[in-house]
Amino acid sequence: MPNLELRRPFDLPFDVLVVGAGAAGLYAALCLPEHLRVGLLTKESLFSSASDWAQGGIAAVVAPDDSSTLHIEDTLRAGAGLCDRDAVTLLVEQAPECIRNLVEMGVGFDRHGSDLALTLEAAHSRRRVLHAADTTGRAVVSTLTDHVLNRKNIQVIQQAFAVDLWLDSSRQVCQGISCLYEGVLHWLQAEAVVLATGGGGQVFAQTTNPSLSTGDGVAMAWRAGAVLRDLEFVQFHPTALTKAGAPRFLVSEAVRGEGAQLIDADGRRFAFDYHPDGELAPRDVVSRAIFSHLQKTSADPAHAHVWLDLRSIPAETIQRRFPNIVQVCQQWGVDAFKEPVPVAPAAHYWMGGILTDATSQTSIAGLYAVGENASTGVHGANRLASNSLLECIVYGAQLRHITLTAAAVHDKSTLQVLDQPLDPVPAQPLANWQTQWECVDSIRQELPQLVWQSAGICREQAVLEDAIARISRWRQDFQALPFTHYLANLAARHVVQLPLPPQQLRTWGETRNLLDVADLILKSAAYRTESRGGHYRLDYPQPDLNWQVHTLVEQQTWRRSLPTRSVPTPEH
Ligand SMILES: Cc1cc2nc3c(=O)[nH]c(=O)nc-3n(C[C@H](O)[C@H](O)[C@H](O)COP(=O)(O)OP(=O)(O)OC[C@H]3O[C@@H](n4cnc5c(N)ncnc54)[C@H](O)[C@@H]3O)c2cc1C
Repeated sequence: MPNLELRRPFDLPFDVLVVGAGAAGLYAALCLPEHLRVGLLTKESLFSSASDWAQGGIAAVVAPDDSSTLHIEDTLRAGAGLCDRDAVTLLVEQAPECIRNLVEMGVGFDRHGSDLALTLEAAHSRRRVLHAADTTGRAVVSTLTDHVLNRKNIQVIQQAFAVDLWLDSSRQVCQGISCLYEGVLHWLQAEAVVLATGGGGQVFAQTTNPSLSTGDGVAMAWRAGAVLRDLEFVQFHPTALTKAGAPRFLVSEAVRGEGAQLIDADGRRFAFDYHPDGELAPRDVVSRAIFSHLQKTSADPAHAHVWLDLRSIPAETIQRRFPNIVQVCQQWGVDAFKEPVPVAPAAHYWMGGILTDATSQTSIAGLYAVGENASTGVHGANRLASNSLLECIVYGAQLRHITLTAAAVHDKSTLQVLDQPLDPVPAQPLANWQTQWECVDSIRQELPQLVWQSAGICREQAVLEDAIARISRWRQDFQALPFTHYLANLAARHVVQLPLPPQQLRTWGETRNLLDVADLILKSAAYRTESRGGHYRLDYPQPDLNWQVHTLVEQQTWRRSLPTRSVPTPEH
């Protein structure tokens, strides 16, 4: 096959590449100094992200009866001893200014008269959650998107799948990424890369996350040797719609905040049997309450559900506050005004991620991480509701402090690299592609079931170890595929044309990432022999003071951090 002329899809070169266009990536791109040339990549379109799906809202101290101290205390308490107090303080203290900025940019938060309307969510001691009906995320993302599209220094590249980080020869400095775009593997150089790829809910069979949440940033950072933290901590949302054939659509916490009640098959309100705060206990507590209750009361607990009864909330409030939830329930044959909604827990939020500092810098020079794929330390072992959109904004804004060391990326060598002609793939990596694809596809289908069963709401050593062994076999199969061997070991700057359907290329990349993410979660869950926050071990059901430490992961090494300082404050 003759060499093909490289089309130029990108206005090269970039100073900063932001991978991910959810709330974190969009806001980070907007906060980067305007003289920098920024590339903003998304593997889908600008309008698909978990951020777009966020319903309940965004937390900030706005009300006169609220205070930073209270918001900090609530966050630390939810984080079960593993929050980083300084990180939480930054989050909470920067929140009001970030909210003012969002309002000035045009985000239409709901109001009571001229004041911002605030709702109460589980484990918050005050009404401090701002919202835009039940589509808060969409209100934020669409406003940020408008601003991004009007910024001359930002080039948006949609349907571009980041494959790997591109390190320099010392493997100490990140100098760009490799990326699949229109069937070509490109190498994009930049002085800094910001990972904003969101969560990894798709590693679990039951999840509220969109299909794009495959943990790509965490997997890329791990392969590059970055330090990761607390990967065992996953928040399971207690109330995802559970109807045969329907996706696990999230029924927001805010519904319980407004007074909805959890009832069992006998119509009994059971949440107070498990915690004095009943439906408004922290998410992990409510998720386990439902799990335990179903174990006790159902013949088939794996497929059973409970109900969320909204009928004690005035119909006018339901209609005004939750129009989207009402509509989706209706679409699946449930009239939320007249009948309880069937719900069960699903994986929702990944507290762990790529270790970052207060400037969103990772352990690799030139590599930053923001949003759900980062571990800033604000969520500890369990996230306080509505703190995650806030984290995207506050820590995205930290990118305004970025300092780039040299103007090297603008030199001619970059352009020469990218002007190279395309190489066709040799025949061998594509041999028997159908058989190779069947292997990828079957791992992609089976892996989430395995992880849900072994590292879901309740975990134990023997089950985790079996799952680790299974993942190891799948990884070997995957790595032995000629296509994987070729693409994962391609020399840097080698631009190749891949004659395969883009969707299959993306599934190959996501499956590779999901295998890494599954392995990291399972091994981290087996490593922590206690229960805390979103990590519950049937064989170690209590928190252990000796485990008031972070789990740090670097390549194949798992280790404990020094003990944390954020001992939760007593009840107030
Ligand atoms: C249903 C639901 C409701 C929620 N409700 C709330 C709420 O009310 N309040 C709250 O605070 N939090 C909420 N959350 C959590 C919150 O929405 C997320 O934590 C947050 O939006 C994550 O934002 P992000 O920018 O980090 O990632 P995302 O918004 O998920 O964006 C990820 C981006 O990365 C891109 N990407 C991923 N991998 C690649 C790759 N390999 N190459 C290129 N691009 C890539 C994606 O295309 C996407 O653009 C909710 C989550 C869900 C799922």
